[in-house]
Amino acid sequence: MTELRTLKVALLGCGNVGAQVARILIDDAGTLAPRTGARLELVGIAVRNLDAEREVDLPRELFTTDGETLVKDADLVIELMGGIEPARSLILSAIQNGASVVTGNKALLAADGPALYEEADKAGVELSYEAAVAGAIPILRPIRDSLSGDRITRVLGIVNGTTNFILDQMDSTGAQFADALAEAQRLGYAEADPTADVEGHDAAAKAAILASLSFHTRFDLEHVYCEGITRVSAADIAAAKEAGFVIKLLAIAEKIGNGDGSEGVSVRVHPTLLPREHPLAAVRGAFNAVFIEAENAGELMFYGQGAGGTPTASAVLGDLVSAARRIVLGGPGRIESTTGHVPALPIDAAITSYYIGLDVADQPGVLAKIAQLFAEHGVSIEIMRQTIHRDADSNVESAELRIVTHRASEAALAATVEAVKGLDVINSVTSVLRVEGA
Ligand code: NAP
Repeated sequence: MTELRTLKVALLGCGNVGAQVARILIDDAGTLAPRTGARLELVGIAVRNLDAEREVDLPRELFTTDGETLVKDADLVIELMGGIEPARSLILSAIQNGASVVTGNKALLAADGPALYEEADKAGVELSYEAAVAGAIPILRPIRDSLSGDRITRVLGIVNGTTNFILDQMDSTGAQFADALAEAQRLGYAEADPTADVEGHDAAAKAAILASLSFHTRFDLEHVYCEGITRVSAADIAAAKEAGFVIKLLAIAEKIGNGDGSEGVSVRVHPTLLPREHPLAAVRGAFNAVFIEAENAGELMFYGQGAGGTPTASAVLGDLVSAARRIVLGGPGRIESTTGHVPALPIDAAITSYYIGLDVADQPGVLAKIAQLFAEHGVSIEIMRQTIHRDADSNVESAELRIVTHRASEAALAATVEAVKGLDVINSVTSVLRVEGA
């Protein structure tokens, strides 16, 4: 039997994910080697604090605070520090030294991905990042490789477990947003500062990556329209439920025709109503899922754990073995396909259905007035439901009107809502939410 060569692996970061990656590299070295065609030797782990307690018992001599020296002598570098610096400089340094890099750092990729991909292309090394989107779920490789002979038309993803947990809590218990967030924090699903999750920024970074790979064009954060879940109320959830919908925070990337033969891509993150029978509606708790529509494959769904040290380590190891195999077999680094050149469309060009909640005066002719106004703006109504309320103190009756439209442009809908607000029979517009999959 021929002796397998040894590839040196440097690990940057030993937190939730890094510690599990180190454990698997050491414990499973014997099974990884024949699958890889090389022995993967963990040569060092860069951290901030050499004395910190680690979740996993690892040899002390592996630890260093000098990431720069560590990456200079590695064949493969795994970056699991997070943040922009020093992760960015260390990745660049690794690439320039001819190492392939695996990272889970969606924030860095969204901020500076194109420059890093370019450096990797130039150096003929791989930069892989399966763990950056939807944790353990193999989703980037299927989009990039398995579907490379097809044409993806739409991607809908639940790619943030924290917000899915919060919305699921609100749906199943009737809780308000603040209470569901507090519960998520108590159970460790949400950070003490939950801004990146609840404002949709984390999902937006992943949407940019999904859109780039799906449509062979580089999109970054500035192309992603982003609305978080902080304004979703218990009343919105209850009304959606009554109408047969569930509210999810979706990352959406879809190709839209401009009507003149040209096409663009709408990339957006926002709370979305989904029919309860849609496959994504069944994604509960902190789980993630990505639903893909492709011209030939039809509909595909990928489901699993979107975070957590061990699940995410699985995705990192997959990338590592694949990059190591390429080093063993030779050949150029994997070059991202950017031949699509489809422009990103502004949110006004997005075409979707809408759910609109209105508090209206209970008078004859109100429904006709509203329906006529929608028709004048080219927005056609699919469902209109009215519920009458009587205020116990004042004895005044008001009506709640819930409207679901057919697909319309965001611009037409925005103009309609503005016009509706001007009608004398409208007390308030209680919610405007987008609907998918109806
Ligand atoms: P983490 O628990 O905060 O660990 C970060 C590690 O990096 C720590 O070991 C820290 O060292 C080290 N580090 C940070 N700044 C450093 C610096 N300036 N110099 C040297 N070492 C430094 O992070 P994580 O949850 O494992 O996440 C790592 C990456 O994976 C992030 O990009 C994250 O977005 C991504 N990711 C995480 C998950 C998940 O479920 N956690 C899922 C998908 C993707 P000390 O330990 O000494 O402080």
